[in-house]
Amino acid sequence: MNKTKQAIKINIEKLLGLIATYNKEADLELVKRTFEFAKKSHEGQKRLNGDDYIIHPLNVALILAEMKMDEKTIVAALLHDLIEKCNVTERDIEQKFSSEIAKLVSGVTKLGEMDFDKASFGKEFADDPKRIKNIESLRKLFLAMAEDIRVVLIKLADRYHNLKTLHALSEKDQKRIAEETLDIFAPLADRLGMGRFKADLEDLAFQFSNPSEFKNILKLTKGEFLEKEKYLKDFKKYLEEILKKEGIEAEIEGRAKHLYSVYKKLKKEGDISKIYDLMAIRIIVPTKSDCYKTMGIVHSRFKPLIYRIKDYIAVPKPNGYQSLHTTVFGLDGKITEIQIRTAEMHEEAEKGVAAHWHYNEMKQTSDYSKRKSSFAPKDKIQWIKELLDWQEKTESTKEFFEGLKIDVFKDRIFVFSPKGDVFDLPEGSTPVDFAYAVHGWIGDHLVGAKVNGKMISIDEPLENRDIVEIITKKNSPGPKRDWLKFAVTSKAKQRIRAYLNKESK
Ligand code: MN
Repeated sequence: MNKTKQAIKINIEKLLGLIATYNKEADLELVKRTFEFAKKSHEGQKRLNGDDYIIHPLNVALILAEMKMDEKTIVAALLHDLIEKCNVTERDIEQKFSSEIAKLVSGVTKLGEMDFDKASFGKEFADDPKRIKNIESLRKLFLAMAEDIRVVLIKLADRYHNLKTLHALSEKDQKRIAEETLDIFAPLADRLGMGRFKADLEDLAFQFSNPSEFKNILKLTKGEFLEKEKYLKDFKKYLEEILKKEGIEAEIEGRAKHLYSVYKKLKKEGDISKIYDLMAIRIIVPTKSDCYKTMGIVHSRFKPLIYRIKDYIAVPKPNGYQSLHTTVFGLDGKITEIQIRTAEMHEEAEKGVAAHWHYNEMKQTSDYSKRKSSFAPKDKIQWIKELLDWQEKTESTKEFFEGLKIDVFKDRIFVFSPKGDVFDLPEGSTPVDFAYAVHGWIGDHLVGAKVNGKMISIDEPLENRDIVEIITKKNSPGPKRDWLKFAVTSKAKQRIRAYLNKESK
């Protein structure tokens, strides 16, 4: 047996073994059969790096099995390039497998046809028909996503493996694919709460999007990491001992900030010594109340930096992230960030929506026919539904696209109402955006805004974690045309325009 054949054999066995560990009732025969069918269909095709083509879908399936996805997703992953690369149609797949699997595969294929090139993400919008067609398909993608988020998970896994083999491509293609990953796929993974995956995608892409900066950051962090490694080890040991004494069963690990996020933070802070969470300690404990107990134990021994205590358990981030964060003067007074969470919160933080298939399958009835595998938690995909909702009301493709750039792919901040409700907004949002996010009526009747208790101008950008209070008046003059100049979100802009239109009539 040659080397490639052996690699394929090892991988398919690994795949089957992996699925069996988390899904006892999985139809492994189906997975095997699907693999054979995909292998035969890709027969003779090669990847640019010289691999037999089947290695690629097999790896994509493996990535999804590592996320503990259901077997239909795995099967669709094995088939995901068939429509594009082989003489196989959606109908063929429907007949051979099922309409559900055919839909997944065709969804992934449609996504592959899109051309999100850098030019279309720049400031200028080109009104060329091809681009508009692509944007229309992007609209369809979000529709498909709202229906079945698994399409995007397969696409993300596909992208991940493509990045791993990106060396084989020309420099120009490397850069294009890397930038597209940073602009679209990583933010998408983030909005789906898939922290681990987002970080991996970013670091894989970063080395191709900006090779010199990548090397630079690698060198810079290497020294810091080495220096801190021993310190973290000692600190970890110390924490293990004190928590044990208090009867808390904790698993403690060190975690290093991923390179791309160091790079982004460095651009803001300017100096690596100001990045306190370059390396952090993560404590995993059994229950939510253990989290708070642990934080208490830590604080009773190490003074915290008051302004860096964050309770994302009581107030989760909008993408579902839960954890306690604190930064303390640790051993020898060294400033150290500590994150405390339960195992379930940890899985959620790493895997986001993908974590839910697993839980869902576990919690559901043993009657397999009653399981619904296309399940995705409603609150996790609410933003997609909202997005579609305003898109339906948007007539111009250009406006839709501009909105998408801001609403989906821009970095997010989150801010609070005075009652502590959390709102998730794109960076640069103003009190006007906040007001419309809360309620249309509040936006229409806004007369002023307080941030953290102080009056501010309504065009001033909000900061992460601001507490925003909107002052309204029943007989306010209503939104002004001016507001359109600084409102950022599509929701706000659309409401303001609708109001002005109504008024002018
Ligand atoms: Mn592919």
